[in-house]
Amino acid sequence: MRTEERRVDDAVIDCSREIPYWADARPFPRTVEHPLFYSQAEIERARTRVARHDWAKQYRDDQIAKIEESGILSMGAEEIRGEIFEQVTFPLPRCPVDRGQRSWRENFWTWSVADRHHVHCETCSSSLPGAEHEPTGEIEVIGPAGGLVKYAFWEDEDGTRYFFNSFVQFYRQKWVIDLAPKLARSYVLTQDATFARKAAVIVARLAEVYPNYPVHGFGKGFGSADKQGYYKNSFYRDTPFPFVSSRWANFAVGPYVDAAYVYEIAQVYDLISDSGVFEALARECGRDVKAEIERDLLYEAARHTLEVDRRLTNYQGRFIMAMGLVGRLLGEQDFVAEAWEVYTALVDNSFHYDGFWCENTLNYFNMIVGSVLDVPHVMGGTGGIDVLGERPIVPRIYDCPLGLHSPQGETLPVNDTWSSTLRPGAPGLRSMAKFVEAADELTGANRIQVARPEFALFRRSSEASRAVDETELQALVPDNYLLPGVGDAVLGIGRTPNAVRTTLYFGPWAGHHHYDTLGMSLFGCGHELLSDIGYTWSLYRPWVNSAASHNTVVVDGREQSQASGRLLSYKPASPTQVGMISAEASAAFESSTVYTRTMLLVPTGSDSGYTVDLFEVEGGGTHDYLLHGSADFDQSIRTDLSLSETDEELTGIPDGAAYSYISNVRGGDPGDSCKITFEGEGTQVDVHILGAEGDRLLLGRGPSVRRAKDADHRLDEFSYPVVCWRKQGGKSRFLAVIENHQGEPVIERVQLVARGGSEVAVLVGEGDRTRVILVNSSGEGARVALPDGRSVELVGRAGVIHEGDGESVLEIIEGSRLALDGEAVDQVGGYEGCVLDVVGDISGQPGESRLVVDVDLPRDGSLNGKVMFVSRPKGPESAYMIQDVAEAEGRSAVNLEGIPRFVRGRSEIVSGERGRFESKVELPMKSTYRGCLVSVGGETGTIIGVEGRGTVVVDSEVDYSRNVGVAFEIFATSRGDQFRILV
Ligand SMILES: [Zn+2]
Ligand SMILES: [Zn+2]
Repeated sequence: MRTEERRVDDAVIDCSREIPYWADARPFPRTVEHPLFYSQAEIERARTRVARHDWAKQYRDDQIAKIEESGILSMGAEEIRGEIFEQVTFPLPRCPVDRGQRSWRENFWTWSVADRHHVHCETCSSSLPGAEHEPTGEIEVIGPAGGLVKYAFWEDEDGTRYFFNSFVQFYRQKWVIDLAPKLARSYVLTQDATFARKAAVIVARLAEVYPNYPVHGFGKGFGSADKQGYYKNSFYRDTPFPFVSSRWANFAVGPYVDAAYVYEIAQVYDLISDSGVFEALARECGRDVKAEIERDLLYEAARHTLEVDRRLTNYQGRFIMAMGLVGRLLGEQDFVAEAWEVYTALVDNSFHYDGFWCENTLNYFNMIVGSVLDVPHVMGGTGGIDVLGERPIVPRIYDCPLGLHSPQGETLPVNDTWSSTLRPGAPGLRSMAKFVEAADELTGANRIQVARPEFALFRRSSEASRAVDETELQALVPDNYLLPGVGDAVLGIGRTPNAVRTTLYFGPWAGHHHYDTLGMSLFGCGHELLSDIGYTWSLYRPWVNSAASHNTVVVDGREQSQASGRLLSYKPASPTQVGMISAEASAAFESSTVYTRTMLLVPTGSDSGYTVDLFEVEGGGTHDYLLHGSADFDQSIRTDLSLSETDEELTGIPDGAAYSYISNVRGGDPGDSCKITFEGEGTQVDVHILGAEGDRLLLGRGPSVRRAKDADHRLDEFSYPVVCWRKQGGKSRFLAVIENHQGEPVIERVQLVARGGSEVAVLVGEGDRTRVILVNSSGEGARVALPDGRSVELVGRAGVIHEGDGESVLEIIEGSRLALDGEAVDQVGGYEGCVLDVVGDISGQPGESRLVVDVDLPRDGSLNGKVMFVSRPKGPESAYMIQDVAEAEGRSAVNLEGIPRFVRGRSEIVSGERGRFESKVELPMKSTYRGCLVSVGGETGTIIGVEGRGTVVVDSEVDYSRNVGVAFEIFATSRGDQFRILV
């Protein structure tokens, strides 16, 4: 529960605490045996690896080299202690020279040990504090331990206070503290007590100052700090402390900073605990240093962490790791239990049924899953919890986003995902290596060489002779990929860096989401060619988040709703096979009734192909099919159309969905069909527009944002072409053929040969080859006459006739029949039936995922990789990928790929009434729960919706006040559900 934030704002700020945290604790130090973080056996194996493998020796040598370079080995104990301050540290409100918005964010600053008393502003190149920033005043703060500490500030003419000391001290202190883990690991690997001694001085000094560190921070969320444009620090005395506050260095303005630091420092303490250096320090100062560290630092930081407002966010890993490790090191079972409760709550409630993190972004996947990657080791091992046994989904959670990477190894920039153009060093395919390695350690696989040297050195059970390289990772990235729960699909051909990829996003709304339903993007020729900008913290975030900046259709110039889409069909592409993805989101706009996109990827070579894009929309009046160029480089648009200036046509629309960001608009009449080309960096993207009679084509420029690297004053320097194909009348069918190429295109001509009730047929001429592509997104087939008089018939959703060398090859993409004059191909169009049994987490077998059905399915492998749609009469439809079909007691049993989960939420009821109850933890996946079942104490009801963060409304007369303290499970698939498999 979030309470009203109360901050202390008197002349002397009193954050004192009456009773120390440890008043009722058992005595310190505890009798736990060290080392525990790494076992003695792991440490000994690491030492042999250092002798045996170059990568391991390199790791040790790098640690030592960094220590030697730092100069800490020649610093005396007092000098080291002098870099760890009595004051807490926090950001400047902004740069006092350029006064940029949000310039308190850490990416605007650099610091180096060579000039340790100044910080450098990246925006205006100022070195701060300057000579003009002599302190003009100071505040006094009484810390929790009762000590009074002064903080000097300089005030500008607006009355804004800049605590330069606090700012610079953050960097100085962090520099020293970050050396501690290196020192501890160097000690472990070399057994040279010099390293341990330095680390001990750092940890002991932290234990001296920490008890008097007052809670401070921004208090509200980061978003509020961004909107406000500058940072204002507050001090807090009363619990629970706000989410964005800490006692320890709160520079990044994040929650659980104390937990993050104490997790590192607890490792240091543990690894050097048996070195004898603490006993030596104790003799010198006459105090029990171990007792002080355990009590005043580890125990106190853990107890403080329990007082911070708790939620199920992407920051929770810090809480879990710190409470888990400190709990084990101090023998505090309550801490371990808190860590386990939050971890299981997260795993059970915050991941989609396909295994992906609830926020559809690689950034936040990296952040949260990266932070809990070592839970099985920190909470497991001797005397610990069997994490994999309890949650077999864990390895899947680690590596399921492998398929969300481009052939260049970039993350697909869906939603709030940093592109490496905007943020060099943003997570890319390289950052997936640690997830793969950690997953392999759990499953016993051994797919790659060393990803994280420290992990590989101590934890990895398989031997590896070198560091992982990019090609090993690239080999693990599938060319086609579907995550049906989060709603990401990739069609691709080939695996070279130049390979083509077409993506589509249709998933449910969650944190960090954009208005991007049925948005696509295109990769090819070694580039991202049609972009989704991704994450930005700049002023143009409203544009970046809006439907108008996505490659989708905007209705009446309005913003999209937050409605979920639904998968209709998916078939992977290959150099010899046409792929297809189809999805719909009929409620994407308030006025829309049909909103369906069907894309085929037609191969033209081993890593090339073109996209046939059919976008059908009904409802509202004006429909704008939008394409945006590359956000990574300069592109221009080439077209033969005659165009005239017409900014008004776009920006004149009321309620504009961020159209006001588009400028230099020229408009023209596309005729029946036309071609426009995006050109730049030696690449071309041809867009053949078909069936455009009476439409308008509007070409403009929009901010491409990424290259401004989040500097607001540079946002207008970079733009990309925006194409808007506008249809009026409220019922539209956009049909485009999109081909990227370097040099000559494969496509020579494109012709719309038929446009019936709901079917389309396109003839594509490619040199001496032609293809006829038939699509009916409803799956009802097509019957058309070709220009040469031949007749074509499709029963199903899509088919392609490939013609060349006097031969016609008929390919059914999805359906049961494709015929050309007398020639025909027939196949079983699909299967449907009823689910007889569900085997998986819902039946107490969390390592399996199997549906037993009442229809005899082929067991020859022909259904492997196909999608199985499972639905309830009023419930949500789930799409599962088939791994294989087996037999179970005479029935067909479908094993599902990637162990999808049937349980989608699980916790305990804390309060209830008739037809509704409140969950003990928030339910981040709540937008996917409507129509799901919820089981409480053997009774099952259907969820109508979720209110607030976790109040479940059930279509049931049950009085849930009788179930307080009882566990509940939310699930979508059960016995009796209907299924269909499309082939
Ligand atoms: Zn500046
Ligand atoms: Zn986006």
